[in-house]
Amino acid sequence: MGRLKKSYGQHLLVSRGVLEKIAGSLDIQDKDVVVEIGGGTGNLTRVLLEYPLRKLYVLELDPEMVEKLSTIEDDRLEVIRADAGRFDLCSLGEELKLVGNLPYNVGSLIVENVVFHHNCVPVGVFMLQKEVALKLTLKSETGWLAVFLNTFYETSYLMSVPPRFFVPPPKVDSGVIRCVRKEAPPELDMKRYKGFLTKLFADRRKMLKKKIPERVLLKSGIDPRARVEELSVEDFLRLYNVYQEER
Ligand code: SAH
Repeated sequence: MGRLKKSYGQHLLVSRGVLEKIAGSLDIQDKDVVVEIGGGTGNLTRVLLEYPLRKLYVLELDPEMVEKLSTIEDDRLEVIRADAGRFDLCSLGEELKLVGNLPYNVGSLIVENVVFHHNCVPVGVFMLQKEVALKLTLKSETGWLAVFLNTFYETSYLMSVPPRFFVPPPKVDSGVIRCVRKEAPPELDMKRYKGFLTKLFADRRKMLKKKIPERVLLKSGIDPRARVEELSVEDFLRLYNVYQEER
């Protein structure tokens, strides 16, 4: 194996048990189109191919890894050199199961891109830096991306994975999360909703009335003196809808 590149966030998962748990939590059926993000040398790819899936796309940015992945012989596999943080996921199908041991430096960007494409992604299972995984499943202090994700998905924290299960071992613990799209996700202008959330989370200690007109907050049933971390996902959505009407 050649040198692993830090800039690409390459920490290969080498625990068969964890790989199987990740693949198993996707509940793969024979009709499924699965998309793996960041295939690396193919550890997870090979486990995924043990399932009776219809098609497996692997998105990988590093050309050397793309070459390695392309040596795996399986008619159902298609390796695509792409940046998963920008890739148009819906170009691969209408119902995709996403999975990946994400590169930690761009994990959040990739999750954001998934949320933008939630119309074609009913399920996603991702390994991230543990701290990020906890935030995204609302287990610790929230941020705009956690709210963005949880507006469209039911999220759960599946397990923690210690550094020794990777080569080379990362400096931090990892966590696996599962995202299952809500039954009736709200239909929103995604860019506008993202802008609204990032605006609210800037200067998070300021009272909400410094960022949103007081009458909009009152009409949404939210205390104008509250701070952004006191709001639930439902509050954000209600507030956004009133804000749109009152513009
Ligand atoms: N799934 C493999 C490798 C995980 S490491 C395993 O568990 O063993 C993360 C992988 O993501 C690396 O192979 C890295 O090259 C790739 N990667 C980094 N940035 C990426 C991006 N923006 N889009 C797609 N893949 C990326």
